[in-house]
Amino acid sequence: MICPYCGYNQSTVLESRDTEEGRVTRRRRECQRCHKRFTTYERIGNIDLKVIKKDGRSELFDPQKIIRGVRKACWKRPVEDGNIQEIADEIEMKLLNRKKTAVPSRDIGRMIMNRLRKIDKIAYLRFASVYLDMESVADFENVLKEVK
Ligand SMILES: [Zn+2]
Repeated sequence: MICPYCGYNQSTVLESRDTEEGRVTRRRRECQRCHKRFTTYERIGNIDLKVIKKDGRSELFDPQKIIRGVRKACWKRPVEDGNIQEIADEIEMKLLNRKKTAVPSRDIGRMIMNRLRKIDKIAYLRFASVYLDMESVADFENVLKEVK
C-alpha cells in the first residue's frame, strides 16, 4: 500500500476493523518513512453498483466522480486531498454495505453534502449549488439558512 503523502510502499497497520456487514475492512496505517497516517479500505471486487441519474439513465458507480466533484467544490479552500479521498472512500463503503445494486445519484449527492458541511461551509455551498440543481433563489436561501 503506497503512502499518499510520500509514495513509500511500507506501512504499519495500526488498527483493522470490519464494517458491520463485513464486506469492507478499514485499516488505519502509518507510513514507515514519513510516519503520516492514512486509511485504506479493502473491499470485495467486482460489485456492480449502478448509479441512477436524474434523467433515469444509469451508469457504473465511479468513486473518481465523487473525488472530482468534491475537489471542484474545494477549489482554493483549505481542504486536504486526503480528506477528499476519505469522503469518497467512506461513501463508497456505505453504498457497498447497503447491498443494493443501484443507487440514485441524488443519494450520493446528499452524502457528499453531509460530509462537506462538516469540513468547509464554502465548499458545501458550492457543491450544493451545483448538485442540487437549484433553480430558484429560494432554494439557495434555504441552503444558506441551514449553514448559518
Ligand atoms: Zn509516507
